[in-house]
Amino acid sequence: MDTCQCFSCGGEYPNIDGPVHRYMASSPGCWSVYGKVLAREYSSSDYFDVHRLSVDAYAVQHPGSDDRQSIQSVAVHLIRLCLFLEHGLAAEHANTAMLEAGKDKHSFIYLEPPTSFGLITAADVYRAKSVKAHKAVVKEWARTAWDAWSMHHNTIRAWLPSNAFGRINR
Ligand SMILES: [Zn+2]
Repeated sequence: MDTCQCFSCGGEYPNIDGPVHRYMASSPGCWSVYGKVLAREYSSSDYFDVHRLSVDAYAVQHPGSDDRQSIQSVAVHLIRLCLFLEHGLAAEHANTAMLEAGKDKHSFIYLEPPTSFGLITAADVYRAKSVKAHKAVVKEWARTAWDAWSMHHNTIRAWLPSNAFGRINR
């Protein structure tokens, strides 16, 4: 099949026409494959503990432009990745964390995206042949996507809600 590289995440995807997200800018093939990854994750509760990582990793690899909605989306997903990866946030508390992080949304500023978002993309997750493999790739995907934003890590850490996470170590 004819493939092309997504201009944002750099993954190789089918070269197709089709819809894309309103502000998470990607190639149509990338958006389509991500949809299939999500469909797989919704198909079984086995994926519950990595599903939010997939959503966050995809969002921060497709930051879009510097409009307010994109700025807030990128910030909230980076904050949640930080909570998962640096503070051991559990999947069942992810929604609460997201809501808390969103409360400060007017203080978020535009973060200049890195030139590379890491070597793992939704295309790698889609290729996984088992639940175990899928989950392992997602964890690597989230880690490398978070690492890609390392020049902004201190800014993001300063955005973490200060009072809402009694269950995590701060
Ligand atoms: Zn992409």
